[in-house]
Amino acid sequence: MQSNGGRTTKLKESVASFLQSGLDVVFPWSCLLCHSTADRVTNAAGGSAFCQTCRNALSPELPYTCDRCGAEVGPFVTTDNGCVHCRGKPIRFDSLSCLGMYDESLRHAILSAKWSFSTVMLESLTDLLTDNRGAQLRDFDPEIIIPIPQGWAARLTRRFNSAAIVAAALSRSLKVKSDLHVLRRSRNTRPQKRVSIQQRFENQKDGFRIRDAHMIAGKRVLLVDDVVTTGATCSEAARLLKANGATACRVAVLARVLNPS
Ligand SMILES: [Zn+2]
Ligand SMILES: [Zn+2]
Repeated sequence: MQSNGGRTTKLKESVASFLQSGLDVVFPWSCLLCHSTADRVTNAAGGSAFCQTCRNALSPELPYTCDRCGAEVGPFVTTDNGCVHCRGKPIRFDSLSCLGMYDESLRHAILSAKWSFSTVMLESLTDLLTDNRGAQLRDFDPEIIIPIPQGWAARLTRRFNSAAIVAAALSRSLKVKSDLHVLRRSRNTRPQKRVSIQQRFENQKDGFRIRDAHMIAGKRVLLVDDVVTTGATCSEAARLLKANGATACRVAVLARVLNPS
């Protein structure tokens, strides 16, 4: 026998599907990146903002990556102690998952997403991250998801908080709660882009503070940002999270910049 709840859900789905088909006739779908109307993708999250061709370009196979920093490495490289991109650097998070390297396709998509008028592109990029790196993220078994808080310059200039949107989308797909308030900025660090690569770890020192440490005590934390360059910002956040009781910290980002300048 079907419960009332089950019948109501089916009715809602039928109405939503009917309305969607009506909308599709009036406003035909097109890929937000290349504007193609072909190759529409329906996935677990509903529908992607990108066509299949763009999705393929944005999520290339990454058969060999450094688990410590997420960098793509060659097939015969040992990464037990990190790779050429992270070895010797004072990285305090345990591991990093990314959708891909910050190459032409991903860079274009992320910049378009950050400057668009809606959060749809960032959410679809995050769905791609879950589709492609879901096993890594689930294996880590996070108990709380925490986005890197925005610095003052980003708050003044950006339409929205990219890291918080990626964290919320990951929270929905991984079914793990996200929290925007535990990790706070403690002082106005200079924007990382205005600091030399060598000084970026020093620039982030004591750049965060923790509120309500009981939220992270004894927990495995998935720390989220949109893009990671040297890893200095995430490293300082991870150091503080662990100093306040977090037992492990994996970073999840959309893209990893190699050879930053
Ligand atoms: Zn496309
Ligand atoms: Zn590495």
